[in-house]
Amino acid sequence: MKAIRRFTVRTVLPEPIKALASLATNLRWSWHQPTRDLFESLDPDLWAESRHDPIGFLGSVTREKLVALAADPDVVERVAEAGEDLRCYLEEPRWYQTLGSEVPRCVAYFSPEFGITEVLPQYSGGLGILAGDHLKAASDLGVPLIGVGLLYQSGYFKQALSRDAWQQETYPVLDPDALPLTLVKEEDGTPAVVTLPLPNGRKLHAYLWRADVGRVPLLLLDSNVPTNDDGARAITDRLYGGGGDHRLQQELLLGMGGVKALRIFERLTGRPAPEVFHTNEGHAGFLGIERIQELMSAEDPLSWDEALVAGRASTVFTTHTPVAAGIDRFDAAQIKYFFDAGLAPDVPTGKILELGRESYDGGDPSVFNMAVMGLRLAQRANGVAKLHGEVSRAMFSGLWPGFDHSEVPITSVTNGVHVPTWIDPSVTTMAELMEPGAAVAGRWDLVFNVSDEEIWAVRRKLRGRLIEDVRRRLRGSWKKRGAADAELRWTDTVLDPDVLTIGFARRVPTYKRLTLMLRDPARLKRLLLDPERPVQIVVAGKSHPADEAGKRMIQDLVRFTDDPEVRHRIAFLPNYDIAMARTLFPGCDVWLNNPLRPLEACGTSGMKAAINGSLNLSVLDGWWDEMYDGQNGWAIPTAGDKASAQERDDVEAAALYDLLENQIAPRFYGVPNRAAGADSAGAAGPSLDGPHGVPKSWISMIKHTLSHLGPAVSADRMLGDYVRELYTPAAASGRAVRADDFRQARELAAWTKHVRTNWSQVHVEHIDSSGLSEVPQIGDTLHVNAYLNLGVLNPTDVLVELGYGRVDESDELTHTRIEELEAAQNFGNGRYMFSGKAMIEHSGPFGYTVRVMPKHEGLASKAELGLVVNAG
Ligand SMILES: *Cc1c(COP(=O)(O)O)cnc(C)c1O
Repeated sequence: MKAIRRFTVRTVLPEPIKALASLATNLRWSWHQPTRDLFESLDPDLWAESRHDPIGFLGSVTREKLVALAADPDVVERVAEAGEDLRCYLEEPRWYQTLGSEVPRCVAYFSPEFGITEVLPQYSGGLGILAGDHLKAASDLGVPLIGVGLLYQSGYFKQALSRDAWQQETYPVLDPDALPLTLVKEEDGTPAVVTLPLPNGRKLHAYLWRADVGRVPLLLLDSNVPTNDDGARAITDRLYGGGGDHRLQQELLLGMGGVKALRIFERLTGRPAPEVFHTNEGHAGFLGIERIQELMSAEDPLSWDEALVAGRASTVFTTHTPVAAGIDRFDAAQIKYFFDAGLAPDVPTGKILELGRESYDGGDPSVFNMAVMGLRLAQRANGVAKLHGEVSRAMFSGLWPGFDHSEVPITSVTNGVHVPTWIDPSVTTMAELMEPGAAVAGRWDLVFNVSDEEIWAVRRKLRGRLIEDVRRRLRGSWKKRGAADAELRWTDTVLDPDVLTIGFARRVPTYKRLTLMLRDPARLKRLLLDPERPVQIVVAGKSHPADEAGKRMIQDLVRFTDDPEVRHRIAFLPNYDIAMARTLFPGCDVWLNNPLRPLEACGTSGMKAAINGSLNLSVLDGWWDEMYDGQNGWAIPTAGDKASAQERDDVEAAALYDLLENQIAPRFYGVPNRAAGADSAGAAGPSLDGPHGVPKSWISMIKHTLSHLGPAVSADRMLGDYVRELYTPAAASGRAVRADDFRQARELAAWTKHVRTNWSQVHVEHIDSSGLSEVPQIGDTLHVNAYLNLGVLNPTDVLVELGYGRVDESDELTHTRIEELEAAQNFGNGRYMFSGKAMIEHSGPFGYTVRVMPKHEGLASKAELGLVVNAG
C-alpha cells in the first residue's frame, strides 16, 4: 500500500528551527551543498531514505525528533545561520545589479520542461535540464527572471526493462502537495486561476504552482483542477504525451495561459512586468499571440501590424534542434479550430495561420510550424552553439530569401551548465575551484596547484562511487526483470575501480546513435576484455515512448550487455535522470558522444563531464566543434558528405575503436616503460609513467580541461551572453516601440507596410566605377556610383551597400567586405545616385556588387524584413 505523503512545513516546525521550511522549499538546496549537509546532519539515515528530498525528509521526521532538534542549541544555531545565509543570497545585490538601467527589469523565460532536481521530475532531457540551469544561473547572477512552464502530473515516464530488454514505461502520479511547490492564491485565499476558452463552449482552467529556484520564481500551470471536465483535466497529464490535439492544447496553455499567469503574478506580488519574453524552443511560441491579443484589446488598441511590431521587439526565440522531428508541426486546420473558439478574440485567425505557414520552397502549406512562428514572432533569435547557429541559418534561410545564409538573422549563444549543480564536491574541494559563496566564475586555474597524485586519487574515488551506484542499480534492474537474488551474485563485482571507464548517457533518438559502439561487436568485446588495457562502459538513456527504433536500439545494447562474457565490463542502467547523472559524469574517465553531425545542436552532458575532469571523446558536433582544442579530449573524425548512412557508421565506429585502442587506453594506463617491459617480457600489468604510478599525460589533459573548459562551459558565461547580446537589446527595442503610447510601433508598422507594398518598384538601374589603375593593384581605391530607382520610397528608407572582395570561380564573393553607399544625387522621379568607395586590399580575382535593403532604426538586422534587391 502506497501512502501519499502530505506535508505543510509551517504547521509542523517548532519555532527555533523554523528556517528549515524555507531551506526546504527554496530549491537552492539542489545546488547548495551546505544546505544539503545540514539536512543530512539532522538525521543521516532518514536523509538517505528520503532520497535527499528535503520536503520528504522533513515530512518523515517524527514530532519528538523535531522537538529534540529544536532543543539542541547547536542545531538551532546552524539552522539559523543557514536561514540567514539563504536570506542574504535572496536579497543581496549580485552581478546583474551592477549593470545599470539598460538591462531589463524583468525577463520571462518560457519552457515546456524544467529539469531542476530529480525531486521535481518535470523534464525529459537536455532541453529541460538546460532550462533548469538557466534559472539557477540567473539566480546566482541576480538576473530578474521568471520561469513559466507546465506542471505535469506524471512528469516524464519512469523507465524499466523487461526480461527481454524492452523498455517499460510507467507514469507514477505526483502529488503537488508533496513537491517543493506552493499554490498561488488570490488575496481572498482561493487559488488563482487562468482560464482559456476551448471549442464547443468548453473551458480550460489552470492553477498556478510556484517553485522558488533561488531568487527566481518558476510558475507552473496545472490543468488538473476540479472545475475542468476530464479532457481538460488531462491536458497537463504528462510531458509530451499524446500527439495532435493533446500536445497542441499543452502548448496553448503554456504560451497563452503562461502570459495570463504572469499578469496574475504581477498583480499579486507587485513585481515589474517582464520587459523581455524568451521562448526556449518553439513549444511556447503562442505567448506571442497572447501578447498581441493584449495589445489589440487595450483601451487604445493597436492594429494587428502594430501589435506584431510591438510584440516582436521584446521577444527572443531560441531554436534547439536541426532535427525535423524535433520541431512541432500541427495541421493548420487544427490551429484554426482552436483559435476559432475565441482564444484570441481580437486577433484575426488568418493572421495567426500566416505566422506558422511554411511559405518557402519545400514547405507544406497545410502545416503550421511552431519554429517558423517562433522566428516570425521574435525580433531576435539564436541557436545554441556556433555550428548550430550556422546550421539554423541555412535551415531557415527560406524565410529570408535573397540573403546569404550567413546573413540570416539567427545568432548563437552556446549553452552552458550550472557548475554548482554539476560539479562534484570532491572536485570543488580538491582545487578550491569555487571560491566559497562567490557567485561568478570559479578560479579554475587553481587546479594547477593540485598534485597529480591528488587528482588521480580523486578520480579513483569518483570512479569507485559510480561503480557502487552501478552495482546497486543493476541489481534493482535485474530484480525488475525477474531475476532472483541468488542469480545476481555476479552484480557485486561488476566493473573495476582501476579500469578506464567510459560513459554514454542521453536520450535515445536515432541521430544520437546509442548503438554505434556495437557496430563491430567482436572488436568492442576485445576492447572490453583486453588483458592489459581493458575499458569498461556505462550506458543509460530513455527512448521516447512512441519511438520503436529507439527502443530497439536499447534492446540491442542491453542484449549485448547481458552476455556473461562481457557483463562485468559493460552495463546499461535504466531510468537515466538527474540523480544518476550526478554520479555518472564525475565517475567516468571518458565521456563519449557520437551523434550524426550536425544534428546535435549543442549537447551539454559532455560539459558536465568536463567540469568534473572527465575527458571528452566526441564527434565534432555541437559545443565540441567549437571547444575541442586538441588537448582537452579527442575528436572522432566524421565520414565525408558522400558516404551512405552505412558507410558513415562503419567509418566513424572504426575511428572510435581506433582512438580507444591506440590513444586513449595507452594514455590512461601510462606509456609502457620499455626497459621494464623487456625484463618482464610483457607479462606486467599497467605501468604508469608518473613517479608514483599516475599517468602524467592523462592528468595534464584533466588539468587543461578543467582550466580551459570550466569557465567556457559555465551557465554563468551563457547567461552573461544572453543578457548582453539578446536581453538588453530586446529590452531597448521593447522600450523604443512602447514609448509615447507606442509611437514607434505605429510608425514602424505603417512604414513596413509602405515598404513592402512598394518594394517591387526598387531597381538598381546601372553601376559605374572609377579609380582603378589600368592594371588594378593593391592600394587602388574603387569609386562606385549606383543609379537606383526607388519608386515612391525615399533614400532614407533604404540601405545601399557595396559588397566587395575576393571572388571564386563562379563569381561568388568570398570574405566579403561591406561599405555603405551614400545618397549623392537626386535626379527626380524616384531616381538617385548613391556613391561610395572601397580600397583594394589584396591581389587576385576581385569583384563587387551593390544591393538595396530597407532601413529603419526599429529594425534589428538588415535582413529582418526579408527584402533585398541585388544588382544584376
Ligand atoms: C545533461 C543531461 C541531459 C542532456 O544531455 P545531452 O548531452 O545534451 O544529450 C539529459 N538528461 C540528463 C539527466 C542530463 O543530466
